[in-house]
Amino acid sequence: MVMAYRYRKYHHILRLGLHSNMNVTRKRVMVTGGAGFLGSHLCEQLLAQGNDVLCVDNYFTGRRDNIAHMLSNPHFETMRHDICFPLYVEVDEIYNLACPASPVHYQHDPVQTTKTSLIGAINMLGLAKRVGAKVFQASTSEVYGDPTVHPQTEDYRGNVNTLGPRACYDEGKRCAETLFFDYRRQHNLPIKVVRIFNTYGPRMHPDDGRVVSNFIVQALRGEDITIYGDGSQTRAFCFVDDLIAGFLRMMATGADVTGPVNLGNPHEIPVRELAERVVSLIGAESKIVYRPLPQDDPLQRCPDISLAKRLLDWTPKVDLETGLLQTIAYFAQLLGVPARKA
Ligand code: NAD
Ligand code: UDP
Repeated sequence: MVMAYRYRKYHHILRLGLHSNMNVTRKRVMVTGGAGFLGSHLCEQLLAQGNDVLCVDNYFTGRRDNIAHMLSNPHFETMRHDICFPLYVEVDEIYNLACPASPVHYQHDPVQTTKTSLIGAINMLGLAKRVGAKVFQASTSEVYGDPTVHPQTEDYRGNVNTLGPRACYDEGKRCAETLFFDYRRQHNLPIKVVRIFNTYGPRMHPDDGRVVSNFIVQALRGEDITIYGDGSQTRAFCFVDDLIAGFLRMMATGADVTGPVNLGNPHEIPVRELAERVVSLIGAESKIVYRPLPQDDPLQRCPDISLAKRLLDWTPKVDLETGLLQTIAYFAQLLGVPARKA
């Protein structure tokens, strides 16, 4: 309390002092998980908008390569830190993205996944409360579990197995949402919660086991394409640039807009069709092989984005083929192979 009072008392003086000869509108923005797939793209866009960016990451699934091109920018700073531990920094906005996102990664150490979601959220909310920052939470379509309502609207409360292997992530993210809304009610904190649907693009981790990266890497290497189940399960894939545009619009909304808001591309396709499209775009000779469907794998998923359209005037622009070609080019370069086989 005393700390908070002291901080607030001197906050404006500090800011004036720090920025006396500079662009006074430059915001100090922190991105947790900033060295990950989405975080690195977000840091780039925040720099392009003229902000000072602090990237906080423990490099569990993130990579220094993802942010290497920003390191020489004087407005970009990185900090190796695990958000399960308290953090004392002075920032105006916080984007909380730190959390492994692929099923393979978040199930690797499920207890740590829950800790990152919960303790990490508490630490970021506490920090936001102390410095009076706006705080954004990267929530997920997984809060809907294996949905019985289709497409999913924000008022659907979900169908999650609390005991299954996906629960560390699903329940962690659900409880993080609860924490965000309790901090809002109890402390009047400016919060922004988005529920992200499957997103893909350059800088996905090649071994993260997610469907787009798996299929592309398998096809580029001429390996079998592994479809789990019969491939009739659906997903809707959003290109990363579209998603990040939605993040920025959400953060820029007035205090009355808290979310949750679905962000994703509503073009839904079966996983089998994704496999066929990837093989055809690469001209690969890979065979499609079928493997058991993992437990609690949602049968269908597609966002209803009416709310995002209305509140944010946001809609995805990049079609699947364009986005896949950019992602294929990225992985081809990473693996040192041609993007097109024939
Ligand atoms: P990612 O694994 O590439 O990035 C997560 C980042 O968080 C990594 O850099 C990782 O090292 C870091 N991290 C993990 N635990 C941490 C901790 N305790 N302290 C500090 N850093 C930590 O995944 P992503 O796809 O970029 O996802 C980013 C966020 O978006 C996640 O919160 C995820 O739940 C959410 N999300 C992503 C998708 C998607 O399709 N990409 C969908 C839904 C939700
Ligand atoms: N999947 C697949 N083959 C793979 C990887 C994933 O068929 O090599 C399936 C997976 O079972 C799921 C869908 O693709 O039905 C999307 O999986 P992903 O891990 O990308 O994300 P999810 O939407 O399940 O969180």
